[in-house]
This record gives sequence, structure tokens and C-alpha cells, in this order.
Amino acid sequence: MLYAIGFVLIGFISMELAGWFIHKFIMHGPLWPIHQSHHKPSKGPFELNDIFSIFFGTTAVVLMILGYEQLDYRFWIGTGITVYGFSYFVFHDIIIHRRLKLIARPEHGVLRGIIRAHQAHHSDNKKKGVAAYGLFFVPFKFFKGGLK
Ligand SMILES: [Zn+2]
Ligand SMILES: [Zn+2]
Repeated sequence: MLYAIGFVLIGFISMELAGWFIHKFIMHGPLWPIHQSHHKPSKGPFELNDIFSIFFGTTAVVLMILGYEQLDYRFWIGTGITVYGFSYFVFHDIIIHRRLKLIARPEHGVLRGIIRAHQAHHSDNKKKGVAAYGLFFVPFKFFKGGLK
């Protein structure tokens, strides 16, 4: 049980770390022509940037299939990536960008800091020099001065 939880956590945390790296150096680097679609006003329910979700989702599914029979670390890491992807979708796509208008944006608490950080990332929608590439682990300054 602890084995499973440990690897689910590893999967989740690696996605935030790898996601930070990929977002900063690849999506705001060579793959900017794709990611740029997320930094422009959207023209419909989907954006070209959604390709990245398909890529991460596929990675998770492949790991889960590989580890399915022995129920080994690959299955649990794939589960962690899936949990991350789901949380990312709820926070980033539903709560922050309101692609589905299901939940109102929280006005206080830790979530407010996370939202503020992602809004700073979008504040000038440029390729270089923007803030806060991670989603959940963001610089502490975004939590200061007004969590209420
Ligand atoms: Zn970005
Ligand atoms: Zn965004």
C-alpha cells in the first residue's frame, strides 16, 4: 500500500517538476508555435496547445499498461501522472481559465495564490521572461499580502 502511494506521489511530483522544465524550456522555446495558442484569446473549445495533454496522457496510459500485470511501480507512476493531469485540468482549465464554467474562482486561501501566479504567467503572454512556469509549486511571493 505504501509502495503504491509512494510511486503515485513520485508520479505526481515528477510531473510538476518535469512540467515546469518542459513549459519553460520547450513550450516557451522551440515549441512556442504550438504553446502560443494558449497565450492568445481562444477561438473555440480547443486550442493547439491541447496536443501536450494528449502527449502526457499517452505517457501515463503506456506506463499503466506496462505495469498492469505485475501492478508494479510503472502502474503507480502512471496513476500519479493521471492524478496530476486530472488536477491540472480542474485547476488550470476549469478554475483558472474557466473553459468549462463549473466552479467560480476562489477569492482566498492557497488556491488564490496559485491562481495569482498563473495569471502572472499570462500577464504579458510573451515567449520569454514570463513568471511562474509551474502550476502548483509557485514562488512564495504570490501567497504574500492578501490571502484573504
Ligand atoms: Zn506558458
Ligand atoms: Zn494557462
